[in-house]
Amino acid sequence: MRTIEGIPVSPGIAVGKVTVWKNDLILPPLRRIPASRVEKEIEKFSGALQRAEKKILETRDSVTSTVGKKYGEIFSVHLLLLKDHRLHESTVKYIRKERMNAKYAFHLSLQNVLNLFGRPGEELFEERKRDILDVADRVFSYLANSGEKTSYDYEVIIAAHDLSPSQTANLDPRRIIGIATEIGSETSHTAIMAKALEIPAVVGCGELTELLKEEQTVVLDGFGGKVIMDPTPSVIKKSKARQTEFLKKKKSFFLMKRVASQTKDGVSISLLANIALPEEANTALKYGAQGVGLYRTEYLFMNREDVPGEEEQYHSYQKVVQAMKKKPVIIRTLDIGGDKFVSHFEKPRELNPLMGLRAVRFCLGNPEIFRTQIRAILRAGAAGNMKILLPMISTLDEVWRTKEIISGVVKDLSKKKKSFSELPVGIMIEVPSAALLAESFAKETDFFSIGTNDLIQYTMAVDRVNEKISYLYQPFHPAILLLLKNTVEQALQAGIEVSICGESASIPEMVLFLVGLGLTRFSMTSSMIPEVKQIVRSIFFEKARAAAQEAITFPTHGTAFRFLHNVLKGKHANT
Ligand code: PEP
Ligand code: MG
Repeated sequence: MRTIEGIPVSPGIAVGKVTVWKNDLILPPLRRIPASRVEKEIEKFSGALQRAEKKILETRDSVTSTVGKKYGEIFSVHLLLLKDHRLHESTVKYIRKERMNAKYAFHLSLQNVLNLFGRPGEELFEERKRDILDVADRVFSYLANSGEKTSYDYEVIIAAHDLSPSQTANLDPRRIIGIATEIGSETSHTAIMAKALEIPAVVGCGELTELLKEEQTVVLDGFGGKVIMDPTPSVIKKSKARQTEFLKKKKSFFLMKRVASQTKDGVSISLLANIALPEEANTALKYGAQGVGLYRTEYLFMNREDVPGEEEQYHSYQKVVQAMKKKPVIIRTLDIGGDKFVSHFEKPRELNPLMGLRAVRFCLGNPEIFRTQIRAILRAGAAGNMKILLPMISTLDEVWRTKEIISGVVKDLSKKKKSFSELPVGIMIEVPSAALLAESFAKETDFFSIGTNDLIQYTMAVDRVNEKISYLYQPFHPAILLLLKNTVEQALQAGIEVSICGESASIPEMVLFLVGLGLTRFSMTSSMIPEVKQIVRSIFFEKARAAAQEAITFPTHGTAFRFLHNVLKGKHANT
């Protein structure tokens, strides 16, 4: 038994045989065809092209409607490539003049096209290589009359260097029970698709395709980010039991959708969803979200070469508001920089990027980008119940400057008689200065959303992605609890709405503490909503209030956490 470590990106466990996909632009065998077969070979090639074109068009439409326009456009690139007349002409020429078989002739022509994009290793070359491989794969499958590679009639786990967009678009979740790739991150295309299709997945597994053999038995652990090779019978048994448990829990969660989110003594607590892609709005509804508490718009700007224009942004944002009907949607303006890197913006190297030109600071420094996004948001706002959220606010001056920009956009949209809505403007409380001065920020803004991911990072001076110092990442540290208390109390006193959207929103002990402070809006990853609802339904508001008052008196993270934990488990006098 050997374990390959990777990054878990889609939960669940798969036990089964692997199929190893090795993507390489390797020439297929050359066969010389007799003169009498030439026209037939050309016909076969043209037929394969037509079928591939039809299939790409179908895939583009289905991906556009299920995953979004941005992903659908990948297939428009494939279509352009496939219809390139040079490709067609050169393949026909090779078949006719050199009497080459269609597969070889087409591959040779693709290689010639690829060479126009530079040399191996160069960024553009490698990117185009992926598209070309994708198109080649499709045409080849028709030339060989073998149908699509993904149509398995038995369950398999795919092990690949990475999956191309057509490969992921054609995955059948009933057959493909797990995905492991050598490269990738949480925001990579494969990860997003696996999550959307709810297939357990692990990415960034290194030399995976070298280590695994076709049909080898593995356990893919999408919780812990592991691929276990040749597992023992007892590991297989335990893994299968975990998966059954996970599926059972998931099923019961969907049943929770119709159950009210309120404490035992009747205080209603709104549970909303954090989303990054417009298509996730449907997942949010599936899990019973009462709205979108955080729409991270930066994902529209990531993994691409250009900056999205106003129309593209408008359509994405509008899609979310429309999907949520009249439910609230809190849309956050561009929060890039720090660990969220966007390649097409030229950014100077910084010594401390997490404390550098990021989020609202970047937007205020690039007013054109900011204005375009605000125009798109205000226009999309006309279709529903939307609010604007500003990230990384640390001074009042940033709020005022942003409001001036928003006023300018409002004037311009009115002048141009465009349909739009003037939206409430709130701020993320994620920098200690904002949490400490919540009283003055509450006078200048319409709502707060507490971002504990960054608030903990900046208060504890702990890089949130550095595992070596993760022991300092302490949500229940007295300093954090005090900042949370001050923020919630000041918002309630000023009569403005306050919610939490950091990951801590789904820690049961934190739910107890915050409900006790009077917080009634929590936003989190959609799949966490049913679990948090169960916690909410298990507590009494009055008891939570007493527990919150006591929790802030503890001197350390550990003692405060244990106290709240015991209250939740009914092991404390408070309960
Ligand atoms: C946060 O900082 O808590 C937050 C929700 O924002 P992000 O994780 O996107 O920085
Ligand atoms: Mg943040």
